Amino acid sequence: MSSQSAASLQRKPAPALRTGRYLSWGRYPKAEHSHVYKPAWDDQIPAILKSAPDGSVLPYGLGRSYGDSCLNAGRALVDCRRLNRILAFDESTGVLRCESGVSFADIIDVFLPQGWFLPVTPGTQFVTVGGAIANDVHGKNHHRAGTFGAHVRQLGLHRSNDGLVVCGPEENPQMFRATIGGLGLTGVIAWAEVQLRRVAGPWMNAELVPFQSLSTFLDVSRESDGRFEYTVAWLDCFAGKNPRGIFFRGNHSAETGKKLRPNHGKTGPKLPFALPSWLLNRYTVKAFNAAYYRAHAARKGPSLVSYDSFFYPLDSVRQWNLLYGKRGFLQYQCVIPEANVAAIEELLDRIARSGMGSFLGVLKQFGSAPSAGMLSFPRPGLTLALDFAVRGERTLQLLRSLDQVVQESGGALYPAKDARMSPALFEASFPRWRSFVPYIDPKISSSFWRRVTWANQNEAQSQ
Ligand SMILES: Cc1cc2nc3c(=O)[nH]c(=O)nc-3n(C[C@H](O)[C@H](O)[C@H](O)COP(=O)(O)OP(=O)(O)OC[C@H]3O[C@@H](n4cnc5c(N)ncnc54)[C@H](O)[C@@H]3O)c2cc1C
Repeated sequence: MSSQSAASLQRKPAPALRTGRYLSWGRYPKAEHSHVYKPAWDDQIPAILKSAPDGSVLPYGLGRSYGDSCLNAGRALVDCRRLNRILAFDESTGVLRCESGVSFADIIDVFLPQGWFLPVTPGTQFVTVGGAIANDVHGKNHHRAGTFGAHVRQLGLHRSNDGLVVCGPEENPQMFRATIGGLGLTGVIAWAEVQLRRVAGPWMNAELVPFQSLSTFLDVSRESDGRFEYTVAWLDCFAGKNPRGIFFRGNHSAETGKKLRPNHGKTGPKLPFALPSWLLNRYTVKAFNAAYYRAHAARKGPSLVSYDSFFYPLDSVRQWNLLYGKRGFLQYQCVIPEANVAAIEELLDRIARSGMGSFLGVLKQFGSAPSAGMLSFPRPGLTLALDFAVRGERTLQLLRSLDQVVQESGGALYPAKDARMSPALFEASFPRWRSFVPYIDPKISSSFWRRVTWANQNEAQSQ
């Protein structure tokens, strides 16, 4: 591997700029930040951390987290997007070393034409390597490959007290486990080494299977896990306890002859402004869900599709998050132990009765591989994700009623999608979070972390 000679030069401190609006993907809550640091070189980060007051900064990637885990209201962000250099690649092993602001889209652009792909990818390619590590993201291959963190071989972490800490499964393993899924709180990731996987080309052998109940979904899912590397289902969340949906499954194809058109998937239409909220009501959303089901059920069976329409269908409309109007939206993603599948039925029933469901109901069975991080979200069970336009107290009330079902069933909520879970639900979701606290960098904090832990910590101190 070649070394990173440029980064060892001494550079001017990164300027602290006044912030424009740095939002998360759900555009809720609308946090204001005191300032934003935009380092261009990773050796500018120590000075930022040194000069910052305690608990005042948070690293920021591409803001694709939905809630407040990438926000730091009233305090500062370190925007890592300019740390976007590919540092080295070993063709014989597929190990990539890159700065933390490199996006998955960049990795695909450079390495897919050479026959390499990401080991795990979320439903958008517009995330950074640092953001993917900090949320230990999962993809449609969780049942085979586990989370993204399982494919990180090593990383360099800037810490305000300890300088650049190199960690991996063998070196500083506890700091490594804390940083994977560590919500950006353990330090600023400077670079990481990621194991890519070999593929023949950009094509996928995909198959669509319509289903009409949760038990059929489970049958199709179990039957598919052995034969298909990628599985996920879309749900019509207006169908209640017995949801209909479309099961998507696929494998990388051996097809090499067919060419993709240049810039495939990167330049789709763009929503120019937030749509008026009246456009999105129970009738339009219900009609969309019914039409989506009919259109996909008609295309059931196998087909050859490009990687981007298989992995990233939502990326084809840029800024689709504006669809939910000016007030933004909340995504609700939970995992429920499979033994309590009745809880999924209860959640779907409550959502259908509320009339507040959305287009994007997603259901996936997680595998049993233990996650790489201390605070990783994935665990064995069924994960359900749904979007809800923010309509004030009405929406929050529904989500609190869903929380009750999740908590009673021994489930958990995903911090990357959350903007409102209570400290009690966080405690129930991550009962061992206190053993993570010693690894937090004293200069770092986030809106999410203050919201879900301060009440718990104050309670512990007063006992
Ligand atoms: C359409 C869509 C589909 C998605 N599908 C999935 C999915 O299938 N599975 C899944 O798991 N997630 C999914 N997500 C969520 C997304 O993958 C995660 O929120 C991801 O972490 C976002 O990365 P980011 O670069 O935008 O980071 P941000 O959202 O900006 O930040 C995320 C976290 O990373 C930290 N961070 C960022 N950079 C660094 C750094 N250099 N050092 C240390 N910490 C850092 C931040 O402090 C924050 O805590 C989806 C999101 C969208 C919009």
